Amino acid sequence: MQLQTIKDEICDIGRRLYNKGFAAANDGNISYRVDENRVVCTPTQICKGFMKPEDLCIVDMRGDQLAGHRKKTSEIMLHLTIMKERPEVKSVVHCHPPHATAFGIAREAIPQCVLPEVDLFMGDVPIAKYAAPGSQKFADTILPFIHKTDIIVQANHGTVSLGPTVERAYWLTELLDAYCRILLIARDLGRVEYFNKDEAEELLDLKSQWGVKDPRSEMTDCKLCANDVFRETWKETGVGHRAFSPPHFRRGEECVPNGLCSRGTAPGSCCAGTEPCPNTGKDGCSRPPGMTNGAVNTGGNAGVSPEQEALIQAITSRILAALNRS
Ligand SMILES: [Zn+2]
Repeated sequence: MQLQTIKDEICDIGRRLYNKGFAAANDGNISYRVDENRVVCTPTQICKGFMKPEDLCIVDMRGDQLAGHRKKTSEIMLHLTIMKERPEVKSVVHCHPPHATAFGIAREAIPQCVLPEVDLFMGDVPIAKYAAPGSQKFADTILPFIHKTDIIVQANHGTVSLGPTVERAYWLTELLDAYCRILLIARDLGRVEYFNKDEAEELLDLKSQWGVKDPRSEMTDCKLCANDVFRETWKETGVGHRAFSPPHFRRGEECVPNGLCSRGTAPGSCCAGTEPCPNTGKDGCSRPPGMTNGAVNTGGNAGVSPEQEALIQAITSRILAALNRS
């Protein structure tokens, strides 16, 4: 593809990032590998909504700048690390989409089994641990996930997505942020209804018919809806299901406990839907203390423990008393 065409496309995607509110002020960066040792990237300190092709830089695979009158993005090592790990990847988009980033701040595992397009085109999305931006250490936070997904949420920072074209890489970010927004709105309405096991398996089967790989299809101990592909990383990152409580269907099995604690609960035994999770509060339990198994998250104070509830009540009483005095 012509270099000029690539530069035009990066500027076009920059405008979309900015207009969608995914990159405030000078946030975000975009790259495209034009050949083995040349990568076009956005410069630092520029609003992605108003870039011109002549603003873009070219770097080599070590990150040394080869061309461009502006200085390369400070996040170039993130882009190059991904391209080295996944040679087939041509483009990387990093930005701060508010709804997806909120999940990375809350360290809330993003559930599946809610929207068919998300299950089909995206699958489980991990949350990488936090590191200060701009360093190789920051770039390396994506390494545990990069061979299992094309989009990663970065804790307390943003997202990074990748693909064979700039548009494809961007497209995943837009899909993820719309999904996270819909999840938050539905939860605020008071109810999130998840696919049942047959509905969830139907989508995974469709995906494999299309020839699209999903790690959930290959993992025998994987639960379809609960972001379990990345569960082993939750302990280090502090990720868990607190605001959202997806069901835990195991592929090919009728039932495993809803609200399953990942350790210490016998597979195959099914909670009736009302008992407290036997391992609440213990290591690996997906629910906070006080929540019951099988409960659909009801929003509002769902997930609030009795102690937290008492504290909220006490604070509310004090505020009301103060208001009455004034
Ligand atoms: Zn950033």
